[in-house]
Amino acid sequence: MCKVLIEPADYETVKNAVERVFELFPIKAAGKKVLIKPNVLRASQAEEGIVTNPAVLRAVVKKVEDLGPSEIVVGDNPGLFDYGANEESFRRTGLMDAAMGYYRNIGEESVTMEFNPDYMPSVSPSRAVMEADIIISLPKFKTHGLTVMTGAIKNSYGILPGAQKARLHQAAGSPERFHDLIVEVFRLRVPDLFIVDAVVGMEGNGPASPELRQIGRILASDNAVALDAVIAKMMGCEPELLKFLRRAKELGLGEYDIRKIEIIGELKQIPGFKLPPLGGEAITSNETIQTLMTSRTVLRPKADTATCTQCGTCIDHCAMSALSMGPEGVPVVDADTCITCFCCQEMCPEKAIALS
Ligand code: SF4
Ligand code: SF4
Repeated sequence: MCKVLIEPADYETVKNAVERVFELFPIKAAGKKVLIKPNVLRASQAEEGIVTNPAVLRAVVKKVEDLGPSEIVVGDNPGLFDYGANEESFRRTGLMDAAMGYYRNIGEESVTMEFNPDYMPSVSPSRAVMEADIIISLPKFKTHGLTVMTGAIKNSYGILPGAQKARLHQAAGSPERFHDLIVEVFRLRVPDLFIVDAVVGMEGNGPASPELRQIGRILASDNAVALDAVIAKMMGCEPELLKFLRRAKELGLGEYDIRKIEIIGELKQIPGFKLPPLGGEAITSNETIQTLMTSRTVLRPKADTATCTQCGTCIDHCAMSALSMGPEGVPVVDADTCITCFCCQEMCPEKAIALS
């Protein structure tokens, strides 16, 4: 039976929760190459809650050091296109310091692997990922407009450097196919341990929403499907309604039925937790709206004239070239070209893009 730990924690004392994780899920790291992968969506301040908090990364790095590995690498592939933003993203978030000298730009070297030809015949994940003996994934507890939540499975999307993520978004073409796609990427190399930063989580219009939520927990498991099922439950979303979890189960990657998961700690729904507007509710609770979403007729990004600074980041990151500067001085979307991948929303540094 899969186990999931739900451990009370804050950032000052997170070391204790991390100790507990390694007691329950021991890792034999002596003499091994260990890759630690936080969620580094983009350059932002740690307090914005967009990335794994540096306190969690630091505690995990220190613990792994004690296990005597031959090598530790801390890395991720932020953003959709920009290889150069890797270092900057780690520096701005405070994750560079927390990596304690083990940071590496894992986007610089990749290996080519066969992939599901429904999307692309091959992909090139980071070499450091494919050559690691042990991978410890550090997701952030967040909502996501396209997948409802981002947790253990979605964190592996970052094993792909640079523009591949954008090209795959384009190849997926619909939210429904994107759910299957993230599982395809995840199973290229299933991590060995997942430790979720749920001390401060994100609700609402994630994965870069301004609405943070104090949760005060570290979650952990050696099974991503069970762990994501627990995250979904805490968010108030039934796991079986999430297509990516159904697909992962079909592929034998784990169990999302909470009755078949051993929960160590207290599993409680977070009162009034806000799922992503329309996106989350649509995918989880309403077949009609889900069909509309899948046919790409409902949600489109909309820039807020008050907060948009006209930086052009969203335009640069749209794989479909669906955005252009409009007459009001904010980007406007071509509804027919947009594939509702939400990448523009993820990348907007001002959180000025909503879905409507
Ligand atoms: S406009 Fe935004 S949501 Fe639409 S395709 Fe471009 S990046 Fe994706
Ligand atoms: S990324 Fe955000 S702030 Fe920059 S142009 Fe787009 S909507 Fe405006």
